[in-house]
Amino acid sequence: MVPVVKASHDFRRACQEARVDGPLALVPTMGYLHDGHASLIRAARNLAPTVAVTIFVNPTQFGPNEDLSRYPRDLESDLRRCESAGASFVFAPDSPVEIYPAGFQTYVEPGPLAAPLCGARRPGHFRGVATVVSKLFALSRADVALFGEKDYQQLLVIRRMAADLDLGTEVIGRPIVRERDGLALSSRNAYLSPEDRPRATALWKAILAVRERFHAGERDPAALEGLARQGLERAGLVVDYAELRDPIELQPVSRPDPTTRLFLAAFLGKTRLIDNAALGE
Ligand code: AMP
Repeated sequence: MVPVVKASHDFRRACQEARVDGPLALVPTMGYLHDGHASLIRAARNLAPTVAVTIFVNPTQFGPNEDLSRYPRDLESDLRRCESAGASFVFAPDSPVEIYPAGFQTYVEPGPLAAPLCGARRPGHFRGVATVVSKLFALSRADVALFGEKDYQQLLVIRRMAADLDLGTEVIGRPIVRERDGLALSSRNAYLSPEDRPRATALWKAILAVRERFHAGERDPAALEGLARQGLERAGLVVDYAELRDPIELQPVSRPDPTTRLFLAAFLGKTRLIDNAALGE
């Protein structure tokens, strides 16, 4: 089975030793791994001889009323997935204290990229993400780190942070892996009841509908956003946001083009689902 380290100092040492053999790739996760995570690990294998996967449910990126305590966990199954996808070793701290020891008080504050969308709806979320990822970059000194476009805003925030702070890790984005019916794979899909599961395709259906309208010539952002919103609401979801933004700065657009992305977040019961895609894909 793939080797597991539990202590930060052991993770640092394992990464240090691995870097002697060539580049090191890092795949940070919160566990409950699925094929989306596996695709990152496999892509990492093509970039570096050593792939380190981290599994840590990071408390600082959860709001007070979010799902930290019930976030799904299954380390045994995760280790099997890491092994079959080709991970070299796994860092899976047993406790948040390993990452945030007594006296911890320094956080990384991202800038305007973290302001809209999930940043607006989940105050402090990207501060927590940026802080934990900067620590993982510092411990591993990885040459590359892979992140999914499923969390597109997170990918941009982290890439910006790595550049701004000269962390020396190249941040690589990878495409969203979806179920056959279009639902983006997510650890949180485990929350969906069998009755709710079919309705979760509403996000993908909204993306397809908006793309179709865009290809038919619609260029009014409000009309396209309204169409997405309507689709989600009709399926019984509660919309958190449905916004068109440019793919670089995440600013609103006055006239969408094929690179413009539709960003969606919606609640299905208590479960918050997100998705995004370029209009021209
Ligand atoms: P998480 O465990 O949810 O924090 O995700 C860990 C990494 O996997 C992040 O870079 C995510 O963007 C990525 N990821 C999650 N779901 C998917 C997916 N369906 N396709 C591709 N990457 C994903």
